[in-house]
Amino acid sequence: MIVPDWLGQRVIQRGDRLALVFEQKEWTYAQLAEQVTELTGLLIKQGIKPGDYVAVLMANRSEYVFLIHALARIGAIAVFLNTRLSAVEISWQLGHSGSSWLIYDQLNKTTGTEAIVITSSQLDQDVNLKAIAIDSLNLTTKPDQNHDYESKSNPKNKNLKLKNTYALQHSNLLEHNANIDLKVVQAIVYTSGTTGKPKAVQLTYGNHFFSATAAAFNLGIEPDCDRWLVCLPLFHVGGLAIVWRSVIYGSALILQPKFEQEQVIEAIANQPITIVSLVPTMLKRIMANATFESSLSHWQKLRTILLGGAPVDKRLWQRCLELDLPIAPTYGLTEAASQVATLTPTEAKSKIGSAGRSLLCNQIRIIAIDAINPQEEISKQHSNFNSKPSYELPSGEIGQIQVRGTNVTIGYLNNSIRTFPSIQKAIDQSGSKHDQDWFSTGDLGCLDSEGFLYVVNRRHDLIISGGENIYPAEVEALLANHPLLKKFKEFCVIGTDCPEWGQQVTVAIVNDAGNDTKLEPSLTLETLREFCQTHNLARYKLPKAIAIISAMPRTASGKIDRQKLRELIEQKDRL
Ligand code: ATP
Repeated sequence: MIVPDWLGQRVIQRGDRLALVFEQKEWTYAQLAEQVTELTGLLIKQGIKPGDYVAVLMANRSEYVFLIHALARIGAIAVFLNTRLSAVEISWQLGHSGSSWLIYDQLNKTTGTEAIVITSSQLDQDVNLKAIAIDSLNLTTKPDQNHDYESKSNPKNKNLKLKNTYALQHSNLLEHNANIDLKVVQAIVYTSGTTGKPKAVQLTYGNHFFSATAAAFNLGIEPDCDRWLVCLPLFHVGGLAIVWRSVIYGSALILQPKFEQEQVIEAIANQPITIVSLVPTMLKRIMANATFESSLSHWQKLRTILLGGAPVDKRLWQRCLELDLPIAPTYGLTEAASQVATLTPTEAKSKIGSAGRSLLCNQIRIIAIDAINPQEEISKQHSNFNSKPSYELPSGEIGQIQVRGTNVTIGYLNNSIRTFPSIQKAIDQSGSKHDQDWFSTGDLGCLDSEGFLYVVNRRHDLIISGGENIYPAEVEALLANHPLLKKFKEFCVIGTDCPEWGQQVTVAIVNDAGNDTKLEPSLTLETLREFCQTHNLARYKLPKAIAIISAMPRTASGKIDRQKLRELIEQKDRL
């Protein structure tokens, strides 16, 4: 399906509308299109061609947004790299994706050039991986200085009444209009790798379009005043989705270089932001910040605080409700181009713990957890699309979450084991009941009788002890109230090997001092077990071991790396 280029359409319709704000600079849609046109020309001059895989290793900045659109115009596929990865990890992704270009910024120059050296030494002689420093292109910066927005104090007119008639004076911009084929892959986004090597998710223009449309039907849009604050990295789907959303909606993207609590608070207090996307730990840190209270009224006036990427714990949820914050907890994943289910702020007041109902363009179902042996399950999981009929569970029963829809990836790049239905098939046969259309998310959860999703745990984190399923999140939620554990920076519950029961519940506690002897003497396995027992936790779920660690291993995206943690504990046990 071919549709007109969204950015071009924005210029034709309302080129004077605000498109992007970054570090006090503002671009209208007409200006954004002009920057994109210029960058497109510069990249073509460098030699980038349609179909090239172009890796991007950059921090959030305005040029990142221009680049996303410019690569789209060329017909090149963007490969987004996490700037927290090491040169070796980046080199693996460069080789795996078959990237022929790497575009980096000054901040990532060292890692980028190291990664190029490593990759080039591993590639065939005739493969030429070329690097481009974005700043060496000398792109002209043309933020609009002539904006005259109506006063922030009038929320009805928050956004745009511009004196600027820029778009009308630059009608040649329209020459650069292109079409978008929804079937074509726009980007490769690597998952964070919590379950092994990161997976190279292929996202099409159609995935972004249907994701954006479905999200708008759920949370609503107000193109004339929506300003979406993004402090999440653009290399993650949570950030990337908003770049596409803003151009599809015609709303403004307010971009920050990275997450800094003070800067988010400052922006919300002083700019007419209407939506902000955060992961729950970010919101927790913001709410603990000394300046948050004085800006509370601005937070209460936001249209939506979209909270995703991880579960929202009950304490944070309650606090948000007490403070009348418009939270919209959401469940999503890279493979579904971000949101799969989202609670509206109104629903969040009554459906505590849920991640909402499925969005318009995707369905959710829960199937039986069929494997008992976790190792067997891990090897089976290599194909996330279903190959056999599955037993669908009734509401209220916990099983594996599967999703199907036009926002779901066509598959992973360069993964020989998989076969995937095409996006075209999903579009053409959206009513079909083919089992292989369903994508296994690797998460466990249930749907209630009204179709609200409750995410319970990651499938890989499930502890199976003596044939019984134990959800670490349940034990963690209980232990979070233990008075002694509260004193520690962090803890988590994982399953470790146990000769008798297969796996056992182990509590990993971060002891900052890095010294076992400094652990509170009364914090013993027995006291933890007693605490759980008095709070009616079933016997088979009681902790069977404590492991003291000096730091929690995390993936580059900040999630707990449970695989590494397990290895760390098992290594300690062997010593
Ligand atoms: P990998 O697939 O490589 O292990 P990953 O799971 O971190 O990495 P992402 O796409 O970055 O991949 O994150 C999606 C995952 O985040 C979901 O599959 C789920 O485990 C978790 N997640 C997202 N939203 C929620 C939520 N509301 N509640 C619980 N978990 C969530």
